[in-house]
Amino acid sequence: MSAQPFIVGLTGGIGSGKSAAADLFAELGAVIVDTDQIAHALTAPGGAAMAAIRESFGDGVLNGDGALNRPAMRALAFESPEARKRLEGILHPMIRQESERQCLAASAPYVILAVPLLIESGAYRERVHRLCVVDCPEAVQVARVMQRSGLDELQVRAIMAAQASRAERLAAADDVVDNAGSLEALRTQVARLHSGYLALAAPPGGL
Ligand code: ADP
Repeated sequence: MSAQPFIVGLTGGIGSGKSAAADLFAELGAVIVDTDQIAHALTAPGGAAMAAIRESFGDGVLNGDGALNRPAMRALAFESPEARKRLEGILHPMIRQESERQCLAASAPYVILAVPLLIESGAYRERVHRLCVVDCPEAVQVARVMQRSGLDELQVRAIMAAQASRAERLAAADDVVDNAGSLEALRTQVARLHSGYLALAAPPGGL
């Protein structure tokens, strides 16, 4: 068994630039454990969560290839808080277990644990040694998500309203990445944080 690595939680509102920041950390050699990617893998064709989902919800939430039919599941979860809870009851423990496994398997000085709703989740806040928040003004978030997804402003604002507020995220952060500017400006900040995390993960005179 390897020792628990130093874990930096990476979060931010939708469209803030979490994925862009995670990609830059990865370029510098950090290992990224991404709970969104894990959720996708669990619900892909043959994914480890699909048998339990099929048993609980029936074939109506599966695609022909056996993957989760996301629009169908989203509609069901939106209509029924009970169904949403049931789905989370299947997925959340599996995501947690797999992310723990990946963190322990990482052979890197530190791990970036990317969790979109980390601030909203008690479970993940307890698991990170340090919390890094990617931040930008709400208007920038809206513009980026509209461009990326084709959703309209009301739809994007509805998603944002269901997430922690910008102020709540900033209050919880140990480190804030200001991603209102260019990707080059983002790169500079990520490089500085990377040096800091290496030092925190292996302090001079440490073990
Ligand atoms: P999140 O993972 O937080 O939802 P992304 O990293 O996917 O956000 O970024 C949202 C969109 O904005 C993407 O299309 C991404 O390429 C773009 N983007 C992110 N940061 C910047 C930036 N500094 N300048 C321009 N575009 C950016």
